[in-house]
Amino acid sequence: MELSTILRDHRVMYRAGKTMTHTYRIHQLQKLKDMLNRNEKRIYQAIKKDLGKSDYEILMTELGVLYSELDHVMRNLKEWMRTERVKTPTTHKGAKSYIYKQPYGTVLIISPWNYPLNLSITPLIGAIAGGNTAFLKPSEFTPYTSELLADIIADTFEEKYITVVQGGKEVSQELLELEFDYIFFTGSQKVGQIVMEKASKHLIPVTLELGGKSPVIIDEDAKISLAAKRIAWGKLLNAGQTCIAPDYALVHESVKNDFIQALKKELSSFYGNQPMEHPNYTKLIHEDHLNRLEKLLDNENIIFGGEADRENRKMNPTLIDEPSWDRPIMQEEIFGPILPIRSFSHLEQIVDEIEHSRNPLALYYFSENEQKQQWVANNISFGGGTINDTIMHIGTPHLPFGGIGASGIGAYHGYESFRTFTHRKSVLKQTTAFDLSFRYPNSKFGEQIMRKLFKK
Ligand code: NAD
Repeated sequence: MELSTILRDHRVMYRAGKTMTHTYRIHQLQKLKDMLNRNEKRIYQAIKKDLGKSDYEILMTELGVLYSELDHVMRNLKEWMRTERVKTPTTHKGAKSYIYKQPYGTVLIISPWNYPLNLSITPLIGAIAGGNTAFLKPSEFTPYTSELLADIIADTFEEKYITVVQGGKEVSQELLELEFDYIFFTGSQKVGQIVMEKASKHLIPVTLELGGKSPVIIDEDAKISLAAKRIAWGKLLNAGQTCIAPDYALVHESVKNDFIQALKKELSSFYGNQPMEHPNYTKLIHEDHLNRLEKLLDNENIIFGGEADRENRKMNPTLIDEPSWDRPIMQEEIFGPILPIRSFSHLEQIVDEIEHSRNPLALYYFSENEQKQQWVANNISFGGGTINDTIMHIGTPHLPFGGIGASGIGAYHGYESFRTFTHRKSVLKQTTAFDLSFRYPNSKFGEQIMRKLFKK
């Protein structure tokens, strides 16, 4: 069926008003949860075929987070849907003010390959909770997971409510020509620009969850071995193919050697001395990606790792010492198991460092000094981050997740997803019991009263 025809069916379904009730939305969220439960085995198999992720990673970063997000949303949805009564100023005497939570209508969700289940279903939870119907376009680079998603979603939901459209960028662009009511895109900055441009044609509101270079800063008073362990974990998760992976490290010069030694130890402790031979160490998505990563290593000072296994599409954890900012490795998002390390001598210096790659999606700061932690949180611009750890801020439904500037527009997770997928519609209910005449041009004392009310 033509995409435009399916979209028309969605609109009919939406306008019939079924998605407006709490009961309906909860029922659909429960169906989504049952769908995941029922198909767990197939989900593990598909993600493994696409990316070679271990069971532990799939549970932690793909499935487990979905169950907790679903439970959190189902528990709170009634409260979030409630029409809010807000204050009314004295200039509007007699009136009452409300905020209604209006679904957008039919939304388009476009997702990337790196967490193919999580990054498709988490926005979908928000879309359903908000009372929308949805199209989902998963990535062409995870064919097994995308096919499975299409299959199980078609089995669970009516096509006119949730539709999975498979395909590559041509299909994505075909979808972007249609007049959706909202677009939620997760992917690269380059494609984010295309999405925003296409959305501007019909003035469609967007959320853009993009990438960028996220720094990890290790200050002189950090607990070095704990920092090294948490950084190694954050970097090796999904073999570095994580939007909020620490992209590069800025280390205080006084602890640099200790940090590198500790990091080498931790990098070898998770998967042994040859991680690329370990079955639980995630694959790189495709050969071009491996080629790009290998090219980034050209002429760099490799102090650890650097080896790649072409046949199995894997690369050992790799450390680069002091690359300059004009090197390709410092110019683009790495998205692989390579960590460049630069040093600094004063904390203020990191502002200039980060300025080279503005608006990071995430930032990690390791220090035992609370004042310095506050300084970093207050003075540096980034989407979100963690003090004394990596990645963990993404795993709570109580924190909005999103970028700033080049790393993204908007946020989601928990309540923020509900907010993203609904319009806060203001309604002022005016009284007819009386009519204050001072606003009318023929009011004798209108100007005087207004001066008083506006305190002029
Ligand atoms: P991508 O931008 O290449 O692709 C994302 C989606 O867009 C895919 O579904 C793809 O089919 C579609 N697409 C690709 N080219 C297109 C085009 N020209 N026109 C229209 N649609 C097109 O991203 P990717 O390689 O799948 O994912 C990696 C990127 O995503 C990284 O930059 C990473 O940082 C970012 N990312 C961000 C988050 C986040 O939450 N902020 C999460 C994961 C990944």
